[in-house]
Amino acid sequence: MIEFEHVSKVYPDTQIQALEDITLTIDDGEFVSFIGHSGAGKSTLVKLFLGEEQPSDGVLYYKGEDVHRFRHQQMNEYRRNIGIVFQDFRLLSGRTVYENVAFAMEVAGKSDEDIADDVPYVLELVDLSDKAYSFPHQLSGGEKQRLAIARAIVNEPELLIADEPTGNLDPVSTFEIVEILKKINELGTTVILTTHNTGVVDTLKKRVITLEKGRVVQDDKHGSYKLSKK
Ligand code: ADP
Repeated sequence: MIEFEHVSKVYPDTQIQALEDITLTIDDGEFVSFIGHSGAGKSTLVKLFLGEEQPSDGVLYYKGEDVHRFRHQQMNEYRRNIGIVFQDFRLLSGRTVYENVAFAMEVAGKSDEDIADDVPYVLELVDLSDKAYSFPHQLSGGEKQRLAIARAIVNEPELLIADEPTGNLDPVSTFEIVEILKKINELGTTVILTTHNTGVVDTLKKRVITLEKGRVVQDDKHGSYKLSKK
């Protein structure tokens, strides 16, 4: 589904090498975590996935096509296939839980009927049905992130990118988020997670790729990693 072929990224203004010679493949339906300390290159990787940054060398393929050669409309279609969740939630503060999810469907041009069917379904999936009429400021951090996940998956993306989703959460909420991401993956969505939290990848026991100073230093199918002490 996704292939990195010798991808490097040097930011032109600072000449900082954020990624160096990354070659790897992510298959359809996989759950892959990228673990690394701050500055390892995780956010840069996510920006490349989203087409927000260009590799300075190498190619990133999505289903065999070079992502960074997409024209405007192709890029929009590609991005519609990706659901994204951020550390800082990015919810619409003036809208309820239900409306936050419904809005994502409206923007995607979904019918009122689909919205009425699908919003309750995803809220149930993330265990937020009883908060449908609450506003974001009335939710705990874990609940906010569960809402962000509901919104990210409601349009059934092929790929869900969770960028440090548990960075602001306590251990219990972190565990809940990990369980929900696993469930979404079991339902068929490819999941890419970035984290600096070793506990998260320990719980997951899925493929984990360790990044250090922009390089892949380990790629383990069974959830082990090699983070050097900082
Ligand atoms: P992580 O997400 O793992 O913390 P980043 O991808 O944010 O790592 O950063 C990797 C390296 O690239 C760091 O040294 C960071 O300072 C640098 N960097 C990130 N974004 C930019 C940018 N827009 N311009 C210049 N340097 C950047």
